[in-house]
Amino acid sequence: MPKRRRCPFCRRLFTPDPRVGERQKTCGEEECRHEQKRQSNEQWRSRHPDYFQGMYPHQKETYGTRAEYKKRYRKKNPDYVRRNAAFVKEYRERRRKPEPEAVSPTSCDLHLTVWSQTINVSIAQVSHTSRDIFVTIGRCEAS
Ligand SMILES: [Zn+2]
Repeated sequence: MPKRRRCPFCRRLFTPDPRVGERQKTCGEEECRHEQKRQSNEQWRSRHPDYFQGMYPHQKETYGTRAEYKKRYRKKNPDYVRRNAAFVKEYRERRRKPEPEAVSPTSCDLHLTVWSQTINVSIAQVSHTSRDIFVTIGRCEAS
């Protein structure tokens, strides 16, 4: 059984996972793991200062700029251009006119039509299983 150690970040004592043992640096809390990872990335980058240098110019040479890529993609995929134009049009129209105000589920403004009879109802309870949704409705008196 590995000995208890102190987490360098939150200072709490922890027992390392026996499968990890001496290699475990933190208590295992998400915040501490992220801080550990951040520091180890920082150390790695300071040991390899040139690793990410010139990455973008290299990619730019191989693939072109993002704008150029988009331009080529649009030329090759007219279907995408049409779909996107329709989407943008709909999006802009939706933004222009505000949504109609939602009816509260517990108000009596919900209309239920069964066999051509319409009554005013309110939703009393909603529950579900993994397969079904159950809605209990209450009848409202006509106002
Ligand atoms: Zn910790």
